[in-house]
Amino acid sequence: MPARITAPRGTRDLLPEEAPRWEHVEATARELARRYAFERIETPLFERVELFARGLGESSDAVEKEMFRVGGARGSDEERAEWALRPEPTAGIVRAYVEHGMHVRPGPLRLTTIGPMFRYDRPQAGRYRQFTQWDVEVIGDPGPAVDAELVELAHRFYRDVGLADVRARINSIGDATCRPAYREALISYFSAHAPRLTDDSRRRLQVNPLRVLDDRLLDPELAAGAPKSVDYLCDACRAHFAAVLAILDGLGLAYEVDHRLVRGLDYYTRTSFEFYAAGRGGQQDALGGGGRYDGLVELLGGPPTPGIGFGIGIDRTVLAVEAGGVEPPVGAPLVAVVGASDDLVGRLRVATALRDAGLAVRSDGSTRKLGRQLESASKAGARWAVIVGDGERLALKDMASGVQRDEVTVDEVIGLV
Ligand code: AMP
Repeated sequence: MPARITAPRGTRDLLPEEAPRWEHVEATARELARRYAFERIETPLFERVELFARGLGESSDAVEKEMFRVGGARGSDEERAEWALRPEPTAGIVRAYVEHGMHVRPGPLRLTTIGPMFRYDRPQAGRYRQFTQWDVEVIGDPGPAVDAELVELAHRFYRDVGLADVRARINSIGDATCRPAYREALISYFSAHAPRLTDDSRRRLQVNPLRVLDDRLLDPELAAGAPKSVDYLCDACRAHFAAVLAILDGLGLAYEVDHRLVRGLDYYTRTSFEFYAAGRGGQQDALGGGGRYDGLVELLGGPPTPGIGFGIGIDRTVLAVEAGGVEPPVGAPLVAVVGASDDLVGRLRVATALRDAGLAVRSDGSTRKLGRQLESASKAGARWAVIVGDGERLALKDMASGVQRDEVTVDEVIGLV
């Protein structure tokens, strides 16, 4: 027997039994995107490596360690160096914004997408090489109201999928005016404690000291004593952050200011936030995150334009929903069309009429005995069976109670189920 081929490490198949939960979570995202007036955008799953290097920063994990490169069967090493599967959606969306001159449209633009992202990381629980994000971006709105609106939207999403205890953590990491002083403060603090840093952090310290705070293995005591970005904000950034928090308070939303929350990507400015289920704090547990990127449009060749967005991990949200025992809403009842005769045309005609009326229908195409067909219908989870007899005479059987009504019409079936 030939050896079996298995799914690539760090990927998962979505099997039919898990689909209703995914459907529910994705449908909730799509419905909220509609209600919050976001428009759909789709960008390619792969882009130039340079887009990510510029947009996310050379020293971000996504670029430095986790880039999923693609080159094609005859690709040379240079070609493979040129393309990568997207690790996140913002860079591609902003690339499209600039490329299509979308800044001339009446703004701010509110864009949304749901799709797969790729990071060539070491797979573990809740961390995959291919995962799905629901993403929203608002381009051209300096805030602060929209910052709070996005936090509120994410909150509502978690609540609507059945996760009532998800909390926002929020921080401000300043902008080009005030971040340099904060960077210097971090460099001098962590340099003084260099032996207690991980190798990764020591290497990053000069290039991107904010990332040291992000290091999962950072000594908690060292983290607690580190300079806080909020103490270094310029007046404009401080006023912006205070306004965001005041609006969240005004909306009655619970949040926690988290001084270590600096996010892994270089393009973030000012507001950054992440979402965690209560009692879960590890970085691996983040259910979503986002923030402001006021410099990114310009960095990618567009006019200076503020932006903010979030990415919610659908995989982790589904896992949390499952762990919380939240049942997805029950879908439309399934109707099985079975035959008491061998008239397969009649069965399909009845099935088609029921489908025309919007019902979910499985039609049994076999010539097995009626009892066998009913058994299969029951195993498939059918709530009702429509038994098609000679001359398309119909009977409707309630599969739960076993009660059967004879001599019904298609219209009566539609009315009854
Ligand atoms: P990030 O851009 O890293 O903040 O990612 C946003 C969200 O996507 C995270 O909060 C996670 O829910 C999800 N996510 C990020 N990386 C992964 C991964 N490797 N596997 C599964 N979900 C992920």
